[in-house]
Amino acid sequence: MDHTYQLAIIGAGPAGIATAIESYVLGMRDIILLEKDENHNATIRKFYKDNKRVDKDWKGQKVELDGTIYFMDGTKESTLDFFDQLLDHESLELRTHTEVQKIVKRENDFEVFIAGGSLLAKNVVVTIGRMGKPNKPDYKIPPSIKNQVHFTLDGCGSGEKIMVIGGGDSAIEYAVDLCDRNEVSICYRRGTFRRANPTNQADIERALANGSVRALLNTEITEIESESGKVKVLFSDGTSELFDRLVYAIGGTTPSGFLSGSGIREEEGKPVHDENYQTNISGLFVAGDITQESGGSIALGLNHGFAIANYIMNLSK
Ligand SMILES: Cc1cc2nc3c(=O)[nH]c(=O)nc-3n(C[C@H](O)[C@H](O)[C@H](O)COP(=O)(O)OP(=O)(O)OC[C@H]3O[C@@H](n4cnc5c(N)ncnc54)[C@H](O)[C@@H]3O)c2cc1C
Repeated sequence: MDHTYQLAIIGAGPAGIATAIESYVLGMRDIILLEKDENHNATIRKFYKDNKRVDKDWKGQKVELDGTIYFMDGTKESTLDFFDQLLDHESLELRTHTEVQKIVKRENDFEVFIAGGSLLAKNVVVTIGRMGKPNKPDYKIPPSIKNQVHFTLDGCGSGEKIMVIGGGDSAIEYAVDLCDRNEVSICYRRGTFRRANPTNQADIERALANGSVRALLNTEITEIESESGKVKVLFSDGTSELFDRLVYAIGGTTPSGFLSGSGIREEEGKPVHDENYQTNISGLFVAGDITQESGGSIALGLNHGFAIANYIMNLSK
């Protein structure tokens, strides 16, 4: 508790790592990155399928990179390697297995509360993303089929009848990945996959055309039940169908409890911040996916980190 870090960053995803690296490059020392998982980039590790193509211009959003981190299209594995190298190169202090509970503003610094203690920092950047709490359906998931209902591809094998729910890039990538070894349907409440990026649109069109994925478009699910060890899906048109497994890919939610517990104001589902990503509390910033209602990207997170690093370093001159 005696030591006061110059900068504490909560969450070691792309935005958190970028904030740390860019601050370091600008000359700041004494930076700590706090990550609740066993390693950095838990969202990429858990939600990206193996060998997933990683697009710099995710969801078709063209982003010019402002900072010093040269991020390019790649795969899940090359992206994780890239972040490993960045962290190793600058010898940044990454403390894993450290979940931050809340941040409290004191007179001249912040107290950052973690299990069993706290640490002090002059500035704090919150980059905890939105995938800590993936969106869940508003109908109940009966406990008896919980193990057959997923939010990532973990637990999906082969030779099964699987339905993916969602129509964005993640849902399409999941469906296309699963379809070479499973019987796959994709259920989407809209009529087209036009929200996805061009590559994913082409991939799903191809899979639909050759019959390896079946699309249930303009289709809403009203309920799911357990029947004979399977998941029975009831649709709004009154029909139903049995599946071995469901995979929901319907985005994530703003961690409102964390934000309000730290005094960060929220409006319209997003934390309030100014053009430097500073919240209503001076010295407390937000970056990355939590600043977006939906649809952040790695490149956007990198730019947020660069902007915050510049702002803090300019203030200290
Ligand atoms: C399936 C899928 C595919 C995607 N594909 C692409 C793509 O191809 N290209 C692209 O640019 N973007 C893609 N995205 C989006 C991209 O992953 C996000 O925009 C990006 O990861 C956001 O970075 P972030 O740093 O804001 O948050 P995150 O990456 O979510 O990182 C947040 C980190 O904070 C940690 N954390 C959370 N709470 C706490 C806490 N209380 N204390 C400490 N640590 C905490 C988490 O464990 C996590 O490591 C995809 C997203 C998904 C779900």
